[in-house]
Amino acid sequence: MAERVDLTEAPLPRAPRVKRPKGNQRGTGVAKLDEIAVKVLGGAAIVAGLMLLYLLWGLLSGAWSHEVVGHMTHAQKGLQLANIALVFQILDAASFLLIVALLVSCARAEGVGYWLLGGAAFFAVGTSFLTEQVYGYSHHTASNASQLALTDFGSLAWMYGIPGVLWTVLDIYRRVASAADVAAVHRANAKYGHGVPKQKATAQRQVFLGRCWEGPFCKDGIRQKCPIFIEKKGPCWKRKEGCMCEERIVLQAMIAPDWKDQMTRANQALTMGTGARKVLTPAMKRDRCRNCTIYNEHQRQKHKALTVVTMIAIPVLLVLNFPTMQGWVGAFLGMMDTAAKRFSFGGTGGGIALLHGDSYAIFAWVMVFVFAVVLLSQALKLVEYVCFTLKI
Ligand code: SF4
Repeated sequence: MAERVDLTEAPLPRAPRVKRPKGNQRGTGVAKLDEIAVKVLGGAAIVAGLMLLYLLWGLLSGAWSHEVVGHMTHAQKGLQLANIALVFQILDAASFLLIVALLVSCARAEGVGYWLLGGAAFFAVGTSFLTEQVYGYSHHTASNASQLALTDFGSLAWMYGIPGVLWTVLDIYRRVASAADVAAVHRANAKYGHGVPKQKATAQRQVFLGRCWEGPFCKDGIRQKCPIFIEKKGPCWKRKEGCMCEERIVLQAMIAPDWKDQMTRANQALTMGTGARKVLTPAMKRDRCRNCTIYNEHQRQKHKALTVVTMIAIPVLLVLNFPTMQGWVGAFLGMMDTAAKRFSFGGTGGGIALLHGDSYAIFAWVMVFVFAVVLLSQALKLVEYVCFTLKI
């Protein structure tokens, strides 16, 4: 029956209002916490940024240089020192909130650790270096006010550096732990052999980094007549053809009464009634492998092996070359220290407090450790890229 259309200008009946359940109005508790964390993050970043601007302005403009502070009265000097201490207290509090908010809102973001480590490096050595360059250019010398600011920047570096290292270590852990999931996603998205179940696990099918017939996807019904299995010339990804991507292998396995007959047919390059067989370029064949369940399983195992090798090799290499590393760090810190000494009164001071005595040795160790963590994290990232993206 045709639908009746009302052509009068009578107002349309109102659609009933659907009440949203109260609990869903503002999202779940986690989402709400996230929302608060993002707001705190923004606020803390603004406050920290303003405090940082104040401190850098005081340092780099020469307002806290000996030439300016030397002409101040005792009370004015005291006020400047109190201001520096107060601004650092606010900066410390804002930094703490910023890091906690980052922990809540960006716990899984892999770049956060590097940003924090970058911040720590800037506070530890960047501020000294920058001040030294600017003072050298503008012929200023250090005062106790500028020295106090630089020392406090050195202390602030720890606040950023420790969570930065922990975040990076967590990133390493997450990268290793999620490798199986990444591999499963690649297998699930595989164009060839998608959804093919694993065969019953036997010793012959569980060879780590074995050939295709030693893996879990080599089917009994096909392998008995598969030229790759029969000749034991493979694996299939080396020959760039196999049971998942080359239909003639499956069809021949199904129709050939025995493998000799099947081999003959294989060598004749059967067309199966579809005309001339499509000739694939090496690049097309490689692409087939990258989209195949069997090859992706092989890549998962390769990733596992390379991860273990990387996690052992990098710390061992660094330990074996520790004196060299220490030498590099020492040379770098020595350079920074020499620069910092120029800020002391009369050129006889001790440079940056963080780089002296016990702190100097600890700082050198920390630098090597941080370098090791960052290197390891990046090496694992490279392994993941090679195995799951480039698939080589
Ligand atoms: S191509 Fe397939 S059937 Fe043939 S040996 Fe490899 S996994 Fe087994």
